[in-house]
Amino acid sequence: MLSVMPKPEVKRAVNPDEPLLSVQDLEVEYHTRRGKVRAVDHVSFDIYPNEVFGLAGESGCGKSTIAHAVTRILHPPAYIVGGKIMMQGIDILQMNDDNLRGFRWEHMSIVFQSAMNALNPVITVGAQIMDAIQAHTDMSKKDARARAKELLNTVGIDPERVDSYPHQLSGGMRQRAVIAIALALNPELIIMDEPTTALDVVVQKQIMKEIRQLKDQFGFSILFITHDLSLLVEFSDRIGIMYAGELVEVAPSRQIFTNPQHPYTYKLMNSFPTVSGPRQKLVGIPGSPPDLITPPTGCRFHPRCDVAIAGRCQEVMPRLAKVGDRHYAACHLVDEKVIHG
Ligand code: SF4
Repeated sequence: MLSVMPKPEVKRAVNPDEPLLSVQDLEVEYHTRRGKVRAVDHVSFDIYPNEVFGLAGESGCGKSTIAHAVTRILHPPAYIVGGKIMMQGIDILQMNDDNLRGFRWEHMSIVFQSAMNALNPVITVGAQIMDAIQAHTDMSKKDARARAKELLNTVGIDPERVDSYPHQLSGGMRQRAVIAIALALNPELIIMDEPTTALDVVVQKQIMKEIRQLKDQFGFSILFITHDLSLLVEFSDRIGIMYAGELVEVAPSRQIFTNPQHPYTYKLMNSFPTVSGPRQKLVGIPGSPPDLITPPTGCRFHPRCDVAIAGRCQEVMPRLAKVGDRHYAACHLVDEKVIHG
């Protein structure tokens, strides 16, 4: 169970109507022997204070690359070749390495999929939390240890486990320990890349519920990445759907669930079981995502789309268009509705 801790001081005034994070026209390429792969192609989205923004899509659609680009932990052969990433007015792509190191933990942190890979197996979890704290503050060892215990308690781990090694904890506890490290410096944004994928469904649900409570308690925002759309719909405030490196739909979760506008979103929704709700037959999406070295012309989804408009979808790339309140979709069927009523 979570303990209720006092809300930390807000580091700077935050306007709830101003984006906390703004990703504008982001382009990321992987330079491979076969050629350049445009893994993220002109992707733009904002995340607001205290918001959970989810990114979903099949493997290889670019969602994890975005997470790595935002935190600037992309390494060659991946290169950011265009766009801007702004957080609270700071241009992340222009920061030098020193500033970036501090910024990463104090203002944004990341939780990866596999806790076992994120944690050092030969260092106790308490020492790993203390390392994160002491690398960025002048807190004494004694206070950092007390803070590590407090953080373990916050994420539902007995503080007496502070001297446990990762292998002495269950999978769920290890993932909680990684979340404790991410919370250590009270960042405004936490990026969670498939944070519960390696866990069983019961533990997964429990941790997701707890993450949401922590978000409400501490007031941070989350960029939540997963291929599991049903989990995302339950957990996020707004969702962006990625396909082949592009953002094809963005909307409040409820809209994505009840009124998806892009044929890919619709098919993705039907290919996952809902956590709650009536039983229904699941239908896979025929075909597979394109090879991004030679992506299809026009709409990248057209080879798999059963409602493609002949002569248009194969030739003209659709752009995100507003289709409702905070609802955008990139599809010529939607263009037609928007333009012709
Ligand atoms: Fe299908 Fe055309 Fe819409 Fe692409 S633009 S999703 S091919 S209808």
